[in-house]
Amino acid sequence: MEQILFRRTATSWYSVAMEMPLRDDSYWMGKALALAGRAAALGEVPIGAVLVKDGKIIGRGFNRREGQNDPSAHAEMIAIRQAAKRLTAWRLTGTTLYVTLEPCPMCMGAIILARIERLVFGSFDPKAGAAGSLYNLADDPRFNHRVEVESGVKGQECSAILSDFFRELRRQKKENRSTARSN
Ligand SMILES: [Zn+2]
Repeated sequence: MEQILFRRTATSWYSVAMEMPLRDDSYWMGKALALAGRAAALGEVPIGAVLVKDGKIIGRGFNRREGQNDPSAHAEMIAIRQAAKRLTAWRLTGTTLYVTLEPCPMCMGAIILARIERLVFGSFDPKAGAAGSLYNLADDPRFNHRVEVESGVKGQECSAILSDFFRELRRQKKENRSTARSN
């Protein structure tokens, strides 16, 4: 009897916790990851971003480079543009940008120009990262703005969604090649 009561209590505590998830970095990165998933569903490299201010999402984006034929249609750029439009301000002070992959030089430039306060990213990008990998534009005293950076939040999930995507792409290419050969 005691055990049942205990379990019931535990269940109701759990359901309360599920309804009101703790809105920490990992929570917001989960939102960015969901957007990365939407990119993957459209055949785009899965990268997602959300811009958060005062506990609310004010900008969302996922990579649309292929669909929009736009080399600048990165997740971060789309989220920043949406937020600036919503706030009718180019200065996005007091905001945190969550992005699944370390930003490239273009996006770091936009982050600095927008005066974004904090950047949280999931996995490092050794090929193009500009927040520590190839460059560290977030903390360069020659700029008039510095960005606080946190890396590795849900890092494994953020890199897994990318490696799964590229593995599937390679598999499809291989399959197409063998279909072409047999025709
Ligand atoms: Zn970028």
